[in-house]
Amino acid sequence: MPAPRLLTGATNGNVFIDGDRIVAVGDGSSFETPEGVERVDCSGATIVPGLYNAHVHFFERKWSQAHATPAAELAAQLEDFTRYGFTSVFDLSSQWENTQALRERIERGEVAGPRIRSTGEGLVPPGALPPPMVMAVIGVMQTPLPEVVDARQAAQATRTLLDHDPDAIKVFLSSNSGHVVMELEVLRAIVDEAHRAGKKVFVHPNTADDVRTALSAGVDVLAHTVPRGGPWNDDILQAARERRAALIPTLALWKHLMRHDRLSLAQSMVATAIEQLRAWRDAGGIVLFGTDYGAVDADPGDEYALMQRAGMTVDEIVAAMTSVPAEFLGETDRGRIAPGFMADLAVVDAPLGNVRMTLVGGEIVYWERP
Ligand SMILES: [Zn+2]
Repeated sequence: MPAPRLLTGATNGNVFIDGDRIVAVGDGSSFETPEGVERVDCSGATIVPGLYNAHVHFFERKWSQAHATPAAELAAQLEDFTRYGFTSVFDLSSQWENTQALRERIERGEVAGPRIRSTGEGLVPPGALPPPMVMAVIGVMQTPLPEVVDARQAAQATRTLLDHDPDAIKVFLSSNSGHVVMELEVLRAIVDEAHRAGKKVFVHPNTADDVRTALSAGVDVLAHTVPRGGPWNDDILQAARERRAALIPTLALWKHLMRHDRLSLAQSMVATAIEQLRAWRDAGGIVLFGTDYGAVDADPGDEYALMQRAGMTVDEIVAAMTSVPAEFLGETDRGRIAPGFMADLAVVDAPLGNVRMTLVGGEIVYWERP
């Protein structure tokens, strides 16, 4: 257990941590701290709850052989998260055995890093994956994903995944070309099995039809906007609200993927995604922050800026990375700075700004070098 620590001098108050928990929050005169407690100077900074990136992948080659990579090298790679204040990440498809090995080394305290939850391998319709050569060029490990063809076999494939105890189920609803599409009854069979086991279902949609299929089948999270699908109409927005589904916008992903294209085309694609997020939010839909790390670089700055262009305030974006995912994903002792809550914290120059320090369960996992 980490030693007791007092984070002091922050603009929004002091935070006293003992072990992995927050014990007291206030202006310093409002609570007593034991003699000799370690004081961490946070002058001029703001303390925010540890941030949650709900869409990442540990599928790049740099994460393979996670059981054997030297601890220092692995910790340096994991700063891709911790140096931006991320204390929790949800991996939405990777090689499950490998991701578990990575997580175990972090949980044992051997490697400093964020908390990891994962769906393990995602389910795909037959032939939806790009060929191995493409996967190699984009830097992704060769991981076969289970293919589902009909409802009966999809239910079986889901049970097989669930036997290995992932934290949720991920489904790719179509190929990127849109030629291969998962039928509603197939997706419904997957959702029913996952929900029976108490697990949420995240989906990757490519079209407006994929989004309708997903909401009809009762999925929990749309892991992307669908900028090739045009504006979202009322039936989609109403279903989102009634079914309490969440959206992870991944706006910067579209900017990144369109970087080889004409500026006008790239801009209109990003603008469509921004309008989808704006409409979703205006309809009262739940928004979770996520970047698709692994397909994009680590820096979340572009995503913050694009979410603001969709009309989200700084406070709303911070909520989408803290209290909202904690509640939606059932992690009820995270996402807030209050006594009894887990000491997952980020010390920042300003919300959405530079990160000075990141703590996971009271342990300092990142400290900015001057
Ligand atoms: Zn993804």
